[in-house]
Amino acid sequence: MRKIYADNAATTAISKTVLEKMLPYFTEVYGNPSSLYQVGGEAKKALENARESIAKNLGAAHANEIYFTSGGSESDNWAIKGVCYALKAKGKKHIITSKIEHHAVLHTCAALEKEGFEVTYLDVYENGIVKPEDVENAIREDTALVTIMYANNEIGTIQPVAEIGAICKKHNVLFHTDAVQAAGYVKINVADENIDLLSMTAHKIHGPKGCGCLYIRRGVRINILIEGGAQERGKRAGTENVAGAVGLAAALQEAVDTMDERNKKLTQLRNKLIDSLLKIERSRLNGDKEKRLPNNINMCFEGIEGESLLLKLDLNGISASSGSACTSGSLDPSHVLLALGLPHEIAHGSMRLSFSEDITEEDIDYIAETVPGIVDYLRNMSPLWEKIKAEEKKEA
Ligand SMILES: *Cc1c(COP(=O)(O)O)cnc(C)c1O
Repeated sequence: MRKIYADNAATTAISKTVLEKMLPYFTEVYGNPSSLYQVGGEAKKALENARESIAKNLGAAHANEIYFTSGGSESDNWAIKGVCYALKAKGKKHIITSKIEHHAVLHTCAALEKEGFEVTYLDVYENGIVKPEDVENAIREDTALVTIMYANNEIGTIQPVAEIGAICKKHNVLFHTDAVQAAGYVKINVADENIDLLSMTAHKIHGPKGCGCLYIRRGVRINILIEGGAQERGKRAGTENVAGAVGLAAALQEAVDTMDERNKKLTQLRNKLIDSLLKIERSRLNGDKEKRLPNNINMCFEGIEGESLLLKLDLNGISASSGSACTSGSLDPSHVLLALGLPHEIAHGSMRLSFSEDITEEDIDYIAETVPGIVDYLRNMSPLWEKIKAEEKKEA
C-alpha cells in the first residue's frame, strides 16, 4: 500500500543533509562552547556561524539578535512574558493577539491575564485572516505587545504581517510574530516587515526537534525566562545545543534555497487536490484559498467525525490530522475552526493535510481517489448525516 505522510505541520522528517551537518557536533566537536580549549572553540565557532546564517536568512541586521532556544513554544513564551514583564513597570499591561494563535501563545496570554494583564483577541473572520485595521483600533496607550502569528498551523492562512508591523511601528508598540509555520515557506525579512521579535523552530522545516530561536531586535527590552549561566549573552541560560543550532541553521538555509521551486510544485498539487475534494457534497475548505501555505489543506466534511475519518485514512496509508496535534485526543473542536464561525458539529469533521516536498502527483491522485469513498462510508453510518439529508428533503 502507498504510504503518505501528510502531517508536516505537526513535525517533519529531518533532512539527510541537515543531519550530516549536525553529526560531528555530537561525536567530534562535542566541547562546551563556553570553555577555553580547542574543541570548545570549534563548537563556539559553529554556534556563531549558525547564528549568522539564520540572521541573514531572516533579514536581521545583527547575528547577535538571534537567541537559540528549545523550540517554538519556548520562543513564544519568552517573547510574550519577557516583553510584558519588562514593560510592566512602565504601566503597560495590554496585549493584542488573535483568536487562532498556537496554544504556546494563547496559553501564555491566558497565564498573563491571571497576573493582571489584559488581552484583546482579534477576530479572523471567515477567511482566517486578521484585519490590520482591527490591530490599529485595538492599540491602547498601555499596549505592551502585539503578537500575531505569521502563518497558521491548522488552516495555513498567512497573515498581513508587513501591514501589522507598519502599524505597530507607527504607534510605537512592539510586534512579535510566531513564524514557526511560515519560515522556509514565505520570504521573511524582519527589517522590511518591522518585526521586533520572531519565533522559529527547526523540526517543522526538516531540522531536529528541540531546537529553535527567538529573534530579538537590538534595543528591545526583554526579561529573562530561563535563569542560570551566562550563555546567549546572559539572556538564556543552559549549555548550548550546538548540534541543534547547526541543524536549525542548515534546515533554514535548505528551505530558503529550495523555496521558490518547492512552493510552485506544492501550490499546484495543493490546488489540484482542493478542487477535487471540493466536489464532495457538503465539503468546505477552511481558510483563505490564496493566502495560505502552499503545503496546507484543511477541509470539513459535514455529517462525519474527524477522528473516524483520520483512522480510516490511516488504514489507507495516509497520515493526516484533524488540525492540531495538541487537541487530538480531546473531543473539543479546534479553536481555530470555531474562530472562523463554523458550528461545532461541522468543526468536528475536519481534516488537515500538510505536505512536504516529497509529495508526488501520484500521491495526490491517490488521496483524491481515497477520501470520497471514506467520507461516503462514514456518512452511511452517521445519524448526523441522516438528519442533514432529511432536512434537505424537507426544504426541497
Ligand atoms: C509547532 C508550533 C509551535 C511549537 O513549536 P515547538 O518547537 O514544537 O515547541 C508554535 N507555534 C506554531 C505555529 C507551531 O506550528
